[in-house]
Amino acid sequence: MAWENYSFYYTDHIEVPLPPGHRFPMMKYRMLRDKVMADGIIHPNQLHESPMVLDEDLLRAHEKAYVYGLKNKTLSEKELRPIGLTWSPELLNRSYSSAGGFVAATESALRTGFSALLAGGTHHAHADRGEGYCVFNDFAVAALRLIELKKVKRILILDLDVHQGNGNSSILGKREDIFILSIHGEKNYPFRKIPSHLDVALPEKTNDEDYIKALNKALSMIHFDYDIIFYQAGVDNLKEDTLGTFELTLEGLKERDKIVFSYSNNKPIAMAIGGGYASPINLTVEAHANTFKMAKFILG
Ligand SMILES: [Zn+2]
Repeated sequence: MAWENYSFYYTDHIEVPLPPGHRFPMMKYRMLRDKVMADGIIHPNQLHESPMVLDEDLLRAHEKAYVYGLKNKTLSEKELRPIGLTWSPELLNRSYSSAGGFVAATESALRTGFSALLAGGTHHAHADRGEGYCVFNDFAVAALRLIELKKVKRILILDLDVHQGNGNSSILGKREDIFILSIHGEKNYPFRKIPSHLDVALPEKTNDEDYIKALNKALSMIHFDYDIIFYQAGVDNLKEDTLGTFELTLEGLKERDKIVFSYSNNKPIAMAIGGGYASPINLTVEAHANTFKMAKFILG
């Protein structure tokens, strides 16, 4: 289908207050939306506010005590701490919007072939708790929803963020109708990794060439029939990233995305942008924008 038919979802209309000097680059989401429009990659008509996720959808992936504890603000400081973001009504709304945006992107991808959330990829959230800037696990919520509603039978998750998706694997890692490939830094958080269906842990300072080799090899090892791909396109593999251990360049990331979008074999792809914490943050925004540019080049 033509690129103009693809829909994209954003969450940055809900502003989340963070204390000054907080490490999380909240501004990158708005910067990305501005950049993909300014560069003519995405037309404003294609961009939609993410809808709020339904509780019934959240509750397939998350425990009641966690969801209602967050909603009613009854979780303790200690329970909230691993998320790394301060609880606020805005954070709660933004988290509902982010999970809802990915659910919408999966629906849209099934209709048109491709869709993405300009946020998300919250792969560190577990059934009973958030972790690592992730409140709800968007991939788990959307995957269990699509399967339960019989919209798809089998889902391939490609998680190329530099951090292992321990929340994806804790919730989905043992399912036979889902296959998770995670390629991540062996020395990166999370330090206790939970097995995915295929984990590729690469050493510190991994460069473009070694990364692309590992990616091609991993993809060739997947023998799994699927109806849709969920792509976590984290760009924290970039050399300049402050939370990643790899040394990929912008060119290396473009090549990565080209391989992923070419791999899809005409099956729908729903994408979330994942992590990116470069200094300066413009590099992260450029890397995320490049992913959309490559999607347009290959899928448009
Ligand atoms: Zn990450």
